[in-house]
This record gives sequence, structure tokens and C-alpha cells, in this order.
Amino acid sequence: MPSVPVARNEHRASGAGFTECESPVNYKRNAVIRICWNKYHSPRSIDEAIEWLTHYDGRAQVIGGGTDLLLEIQQGLKPAVEAMVDPCRIAGLNQVTIDEDYIVIGCAVTHTQVVSDKRIIRDGTCLVESCGVIGGPQVRNVATLAGNVAHALPAGDGSIGLLALNGEVEVADTCGRRWMPLQAAFLGPGKSAIDHHRSLLTRLRFRATGASAGSAFTRVMRPQGVALPMISMAARVQLDADNTISAVRIALGPAGPVPYLAEPAMEVLTGGPAEPGQFDKAVKAVLASAPLRTSKYRATREYRAEMIRTHLPLVLARATERACSSDAVPVGAGQ
Ligand SMILES: Cc1cc2nc3c(=O)[nH]c(=O)nc-3n(C[C@H](O)[C@H](O)[C@H](O)COP(=O)(O)OP(=O)(O)OC[C@H]3O[C@@H](n4cnc5c(N)ncnc54)[C@H](O)[C@@H]3O)c2cc1C
Repeated sequence: MPSVPVARNEHRASGAGFTECESPVNYKRNAVIRICWNKYHSPRSIDEAIEWLTHYDGRAQVIGGGTDLLLEIQQGLKPAVEAMVDPCRIAGLNQVTIDEDYIVIGCAVTHTQVVSDKRIIRDGTCLVESCGVIGGPQVRNVATLAGNVAHALPAGDGSIGLLALNGEVEVADTCGRRWMPLQAAFLGPGKSAIDHHRSLLTRLRFRATGASAGSAFTRVMRPQGVALPMISMAARVQLDADNTISAVRIALGPAGPVPYLAEPAMEVLTGGPAEPGQFDKAVKAVLASAPLRTSKYRATREYRAEMIRTHLPLVLARATERACSSDAVPVGAGQ
């Protein structure tokens, strides 16, 4: 059996929400904070984390920064759990590393770390731009890219950036560890193929874009609206010597129940010149195939379509520019 659990209020985000009590600051007077967990474990190895999850047999949950999970429990959208298992003290999982031509991001790496990592800025620019618009600095300082992916929202910003980069996730459970394509991790809105009660998303990775490839991300959002975008989009463009597009990926959200890979538009662009006329054809292919819908608080289907018409050519042009130069300066990240 793994070692004794750490003190219950040791969670790095706040320790709030442990017992039912009057809230000192953030809640209305007399509001109560729901119990979120009874035991809080900070394992020192992946094996130990899996042992704890196995020990609780579905009554424990993995926690990253807690920025989604704790709110959902507080708001009664998810039940409290017997124990939280926090992987952030497992050696190596709070780092960005290079493994051959992959950039590997540990599950405890925060959005702030992603945004400031020079290798990701150069070779995964759209991920920096997507993680850089999540919440404000306080949220980005504790929230993780792994938590964004594991939460499996169709418009999770980090997920959209990583999908354009053809990302993969590593999952650990009692059967061992394995890599799977990012897309396979998404089953539906908020529904992940990774069981947060029994498995650990340990690392994420993507191949560095390198010379002759570039990427870009943008999102359209109400200035003071809810945290989720009206529409966001990311693209990675790879060029041949004669400026022909040899490979391209386009990701969008929300467009359907999971982060959307615009395959028909990718087919239209592959093998053709990287020029505005082609980008307009890609827009038409997206609009003919993406399952856009009207959502009550964010945007109509028509408005989303209009934003794709306006912004997707710009995203493709920016990714192309970056493919032609050795430098990439992210736009809008970390503001
Ligand atoms: C004010 C505010 C603004 C926000 N703005 C945005 C925004 O603009 N864009 C956006 O996309 N999101 C936004 N979010 C949502 C949230 O911050 C992000 O989705 C964040 O990346 C979640 O990461 P986390 O580490 O906090 O996840 P947590 O809340 O810790 O976990 C989320 C889910 O993933 C599971 N999980 C976490 N880590 C692992 C792991 N390693 N293995 C298995 N399961 C795991 C948890 O069990 C839980 O179900 C916002 C949240 C707040 C509070």
C-alpha cells in the first residue's frame, strides 16, 4: 500500500472546499462550501498514483489544477469524491521535455508553463496561442493542459491547439502505459475515454513543427462572456520547397460533440498552393461539413459560420507565414 496521505488541505490551488462551512471571501454570506474530498493523496510515482486509484475502486478522482473539477463539485454538477489523487509531485510530470522529434508535456504542466516554453513557442505556436487565452493569469498558473484535454469539452482551447498539432496522450492504468491519438480521447461533450477515477493521463506530446511548417490559433469570444468561445480554430501547415501544402491539419470547436478535425478542408488544401483562393475553398469545405449549431448563450450557427469565413483564412495565412520563416511570435497569448 502506498504511503500515508498528505494533509487534506494541502491542495496547491487553495485547499478550499474541504468541509461544509461559511465561506470567508468568495461566496455570499451564509453560503456553504460543499465537501469536495475526504482524503488528498500526492503520490511520488505513477505506480503509486495507480495504486491509490485502484485502492479506492472508483471512489477517487485525479485532480490537476482543480479549476474545472472543484467548481463542478461546488456547483453540484459532479458528486464529491472519497479521495483526490494529485499527480503534480510525481518527478518529471511538471516538465516539458524533448524525446527525439517529439515535444512531451507532463500532466502537471500548467498553461503558464506552456505559454512561456521557447520550444513550444517555436515548434507548437498554436498551442501557446490556445493555452494563452485560457482564463486569466490566476487560472493559467494552476490549470493544466492535461486537465483541459481530460475534461473533453468540444471547445476546450488547449484541446483545439493540440488537435491541430496531431497530439497524442499517454494513459497509465493497471494494464500499463500506452500512447493514443488525442482524438481517441474524446467521446462526447465532457466525456473522456480516460476514466478519471481509474486512469492517469500522464503526458501529452506532438511532433515539433520544425522548418517548413507553422501553426496558428484564434478564437472569437464575447468580451465579458462565459469562459467558452463562440468558435475557435487552429491550423498547422507544412510546405514543400515550391510552397505547395504537403500536409495540413485544421481543428475547430465547438463544432459537434467533440473537438472537430476538419478533414474535408484538409483534403482540399493538401497538394495545392498555399494561397488565399485555396483558403477560401477550405472555408467552403468546413462550412459544408462541420456540424455547427446554435447555442443559447454563445452564438447562432449562422454567426459561427460567418466567423469561420472571416477568421479561418487568416489563421491559415498566419500558419503559412510561420512555415516560411524560422521565427514565430505568438499573438494574444497570456494577456
Ligand atoms: C475563470 C475560469 C476561466 C476559464 N477559462 C477557460 C477558457 O478560456 N478556455 C478553456 O478551455 N477553459 C477554461 N476554463 C476551464 C479550465 O480552467 C481548463 O479547462 C483547465 O485547463 C482545466 O485544467 P485543470 O488542471 O484545472 O483540470 P481539473 O479541474 O483538475 O480537472 C478537470 C477534469 O480532468 C480530470 N483530470 C485532470 N487531470 C487529469 C489527469 N492527469 N489524468 C486524468 N484525468 C485528469 C479531472 O478528474 C477532471 O475531471 C476556465 C476555468 C475558470 C475557472
